[in-house]
Amino acid sequence: MAEKAYKYRIYPNKKQQELIQKTFGCTRFVYNYYLDKKIKTYEQDKMTFTYNMCSKDLTQLKKELIWLKEVDSVGLQSSLRDLDMAYQKFFKEHSGYPKFKSKKNRHKSYKTKNTNNCLGFENKHIKLPKLGLVKVRDKQIPQGRILNATISQESNGQYYCSLCCTDITFEQLPKTNRNIGLDLGIVDFAILSDGTKIDNPRFYEKSEKKLAKLQRELSRKTIGSNRWNKARVKVAKLQKHISNQRNDFLQKISTSIVQNFDVISIEDLDVKSMRETDSNTRNKRVGDVSWSEFRRMLTYKCEWYGKTLSVIDRYFPSSQICHCCGHRDSKKSEDIRIWSCPACNSELDRDVNAAINILNEGLRLVNN
Ligand SMILES: [Zn+2]
Repeated sequence: MAEKAYKYRIYPNKKQQELIQKTFGCTRFVYNYYLDKKIKTYEQDKMTFTYNMCSKDLTQLKKELIWLKEVDSVGLQSSLRDLDMAYQKFFKEHSGYPKFKSKKNRHKSYKTKNTNNCLGFENKHIKLPKLGLVKVRDKQIPQGRILNATISQESNGQYYCSLCCTDITFEQLPKTNRNIGLDLGIVDFAILSDGTKIDNPRFYEKSEKKLAKLQRELSRKTIGSNRWNKARVKVAKLQKHISNQRNDFLQKISTSIVQNFDVISIEDLDVKSMRETDSNTRNKRVGDVSWSEFRRMLTYKCEWYGKTLSVIDRYFPSSQICHCCGHRDSKKSEDIRIWSCPACNSELDRDVNAAINILNEGLRLVNN
């Protein structure tokens, strides 16, 4: 049994949009109202205005401020929970009070729980409290039982609903009796131990000029003006497009690898340290290939489908060892693409050889 989140772009009608905006406003109001109350209570009486006190008080408050009744009450409750967590965290770390939520925050969201089947998915619509059926275009049907939903609006104006589901049974993929090692690269996205090279699509680089142009246009507009807002949405849309392309690519590659192999062996790359030490262009590329996201996908897909991900030590000298005879040679700089082993005279493709070593080391760890 596993949990899985499904994210849908939703297409609320005008009335629903208005209500979603109202809910964002009300959850923010509730958050700020009780943050203020917590701070005042603490400063005056050195007491904590607890979550339960907030919750009780909110019931009273709703009788006075009836507009709070228009929106999803669970959304308001979870705003109180968020506040409580933020307050406890800041309190523990002695770093001052949490910040008030600003109206200007571009990313808006609220969370609601599934009580009495108030959440559902039917016939290309998501059923949400107070909103009713909201249209989706995605054909994917969520499996299992819906636990909660997060409704959000991104800075480009689009609306999303993320459904968190539990009790999902995944059908295990059939064993293929084939294993693979992956050497993640900069020039190529990855090199496989069977010799396959997966091209790095460089989505960011391809849209870089266009993005720079849009950002220049944005910087010339008066902040807050209508034109500025239009330009801002254009930038956000292109950024979203790039991240969608990248995500699709990573999903496809990771699924295909998990389908085709039983043990998948990768290096534990320290992407962060590479980012910090390397030159600017390389920086962008490292960011662009998104290894950490790829690894995350491989991890959960292996778990879902009954495959094994073996992660080898980042200091394992995969590019120095000859996979034919096991001889360990000197360190090789990035530009040496082919080398021959002084012990057995094998001609070695740097990356494929490394991928084979990664596979062998990965298998050794699994069998230990
Ligand atoms: Zn050799």
